[in-house]
Amino acid sequence: MTWKCFRCGKKIDDINAVKCPYCGYRILIKERPPIAKKLRTD
Ligand SMILES: [Zn+2]
Repeated sequence: MTWKCFRCGKKIDDINAVKCPYCGYRILIKERPPIAKKLRTD
């Protein structure tokens, strides 16, 4: 799971981050990793 800065929108890989290392903003959003759906082709 990664964080996403609410202000600048950059992804933050540090799960323990309390603020954005890029702009210093303190509101971070949890970002879900994209779920890879397995599709059967047969
Ligand atoms: Zn930021």
